[in-house]
Amino acid sequence: MTHAHAPYDDDRPLSRVLSGPEPDPAGDAGHPEPPPRVGFFTDTSVCIGCKACEVACKEWNALPEDGLKLSGMSYDNTQELGASTWRHVAFVEQTRPAPVPAPDGRTELPLAGDGGGSGADPGGEGGGMRWLMSSDVCKHCTHAACLDVCPTGSLFRTEFGTVVVQEDICNGCGYCVPACPYGVIEQRPSDGRAFKCTLCYDRLGAGQEPACAKACPTESIQFGPLDELRERAALRVDQLHEAGVGEARLYGHDPEDGVGGDGAFFLLLDEPEVYGLPPDPVVTTRDLPAMWKHAGAAALALAGGLALSFALPGRRGSR
Ligand code: SF4
Ligand code: SF4
Ligand code: SF4
Repeated sequence: MTHAHAPYDDDRPLSRVLSGPEPDPAGDAGHPEPPPRVGFFTDTSVCIGCKACEVACKEWNALPEDGLKLSGMSYDNTQELGASTWRHVAFVEQTRPAPVPAPDGRTELPLAGDGGGSGADPGGEGGGMRWLMSSDVCKHCTHAACLDVCPTGSLFRTEFGTVVVQEDICNGCGYCVPACPYGVIEQRPSDGRAFKCTLCYDRLGAGQEPACAKACPTESIQFGPLDELRERAALRVDQLHEAGVGEARLYGHDPEDGVGGDGAFFLLLDEPEVYGLPPDPVVTTRDLPAMWKHAGAAALALAGGLALSFALPGRRGSR
């Protein structure tokens, strides 16, 4: 099934169509009366690194293996998202300073985000080590540059507000790959076509939740209407702050950010860069209108100069 890009029929300037808050991406893509926009809230504070999500994605989508190689860099042998890896569980190993003793001398059990977690030094003298685990995925951006630059309509916005690439339409041009600010979509070397997470479009159409969320045993991956997920995530951050995990923060939840907010957003326990995420992503097509304007002005100036250069000798020759 091919979905054409529908024209935007409101009176916003093009710069606001390509960036900024966008309350109804599915409606703006031409879907009449779309269902509520859905997405993922991934709470990395409860991820145990079991990789059930990675396996479920591989199985449901019949994705080929990535090669049986060991990275030699922790348990993260998958290392990154790619054409055959639509979910990637990052393992970030950190050494942590020793927890400061409470003034009243009580022994405090370390929290996952407070120097404790897996592998913490039980002696407590030199601090400890913790793993940050986070299941990464396509962000299903509100303003998706991959979709903006696709010349064939292979990438399209679904009625659920998600972004899907159709393997039978992709011509392998690769424009989407550098356009993605997160480095998510990739061409498969064996045939050149681009692949990424579809947010299980086939399952959504049948009223089922995505395979990765279904398989997650800790509900680190939560699927549902985006508005509800944002409310739930805000409550979870408050809960963690009250529990002393001050470094908990949300990533990709803000409709005012550079991509208009992500359809798949995260609760992190450290800076985004620590997880390999860009700190301030911007939709790469945001500046296209200004660039076209400047290119048009330059072309006009060039045409004017050329016309003048032809006109002047003619005037001299006529004397
Ligand atoms: S994260 Fe990249 S591939 Fe996914 S929708 Fe956004 S721009 Fe497209
Ligand atoms: S939503 Fe579906 S396609 Fe996307 S990562 Fe989860 S299982 Fe894979
Ligand atoms: S997100 Fe869930 S399924 Fe994936 S590794 Fe973490 S706990 Fe396991």
